[in-house]
Amino acid sequence: MHLIERAGGVLAGGCDSPVRSGWGVGAEMFVQSDARGAYAFDEESRRYVDYVMAYGPLLFGHTHPALVGGLDELAQRGFVWGCTHPEEVRLAERIRAHLPSMQRMRFVTSGSEAMMSAVRVARAFTQRTRVLKFAGNYHGHFDLALLEAGASAGAAGAAGSGIPEATRRDVIVARYNDLASVDDRCSASEDEIAAIVVEPIAANMGLVLPQNGFLEGLRERASRWGALLIFDEVVTWLRFGLGGAQGGLGVRPDLTALGKIMGGGVPIAAFGGRAEVMDALAPCGQTFTGGTHAGNPFSVAMAHRVLDLLEAYPEYYTEMGALARRLADGLGDILARHGLPYAVVQRESIVDFKFRAGAPSANFDDARLADARAYALYYREMLSRGILLAPSQNEVMFVSTAHSPADIDQTLAAAAESLAQVARLGISHDSKAKS
Ligand code: PMP
Repeated sequence: MHLIERAGGVLAGGCDSPVRSGWGVGAEMFVQSDARGAYAFDEESRRYVDYVMAYGPLLFGHTHPALVGGLDELAQRGFVWGCTHPEEVRLAERIRAHLPSMQRMRFVTSGSEAMMSAVRVARAFTQRTRVLKFAGNYHGHFDLALLEAGASAGAAGAAGSGIPEATRRDVIVARYNDLASVDDRCSASEDEIAAIVVEPIAANMGLVLPQNGFLEGLRERASRWGALLIFDEVVTWLRFGLGGAQGGLGVRPDLTALGKIMGGGVPIAAFGGRAEVMDALAPCGQTFTGGTHAGNPFSVAMAHRVLDLLEAYPEYYTEMGALARRLADGLGDILARHGLPYAVVQRESIVDFKFRAGAPSANFDDARLADARAYALYYREMLSRGILLAPSQNEVMFVSTAHSPADIDQTLAAAAESLAQVARLGISHDSKAKS
């Protein structure tokens, strides 16, 4: 029996995460059987240049020697101890040296868990319950995070059930890059808001950069209202340098969530911030978070390896940035050649464009105008030419240190042919089509 049928018979919906099913692009699920460097391989061992990069964590590609070597030695010491250990403390110290706003932190396993825990701490510290979030941001799959979320949760109905009515009442959703919408939605409840949660650079409705003054405006409002500002740096920390988005943009949050990238591919995440806020956690305070795998020695050792690499080779950032620029410029040229008026957005090693005419998206309302049918066709055309893109237009292209100029050139050649197909069908000019 074909693997997709077998998957459907045993995994719910045939997969562990809906985006993987291909529902966002009307395509058959991509089944991966192997990976190496910048490449993914399908069941027939066909090679694809991979821009999904596991949705962000693979800053060094799939199999960087410094991450995959010597694992036997690590395993000899066991995978999980359930005890505090020296390397865990040293990792926290290293993280704090790069992110001084994280005066105290705690390790967890996934980005969802990090954000869920940060929100709980904020609620405990402020003794308030309401949370302000932004449409099109994605913070994981816990209840409140899914409301008007981006990524694959942005698909119609995906967050439609299983979320208590009380949770919906506690959440206020505003427009990204729109302080007027923040003031408008919050005017009656400023003193009830525990936290403002935001992706400081948004990467789950395509790549959306914060406009001048937006994050500063949130910082000012959080302080004035007595709420906490929580930065979700699950994608941005390490992707945008060792100082993360907060270092680059110069806005200091009260709490920060970190995730996937820090483990180089193995599950580890963290949340932390102001010492007095984190003191709400037991045993100092009365708020509980914990976990069997929290701070396990295997994941911690991998996170040290990631930091070792990035601290030793700052040129990695320059190189990835240059490759991403080459990709973005090339895509821009091809789009122009086909008369497709779509803006390419690039920041560090992330590249993105949407099938929507005009300026880059500022918020989810813009992003949702992108032509989903055009992207679906583009996805399939690129796949047939050996390029693996995310099967959802809310995602972005991630370049890694493993990608080479030749990979970028192969990608651009495939994009030229694929976009010609899209342009030929003439559906790409329909900027009113909803995804
Ligand atoms: N926050 C952001 C910004 C994310 O992009 C993601 C996942 N893509 C998460 C949180 C959730 O992380 P995880 O999938 O590890 O739970």
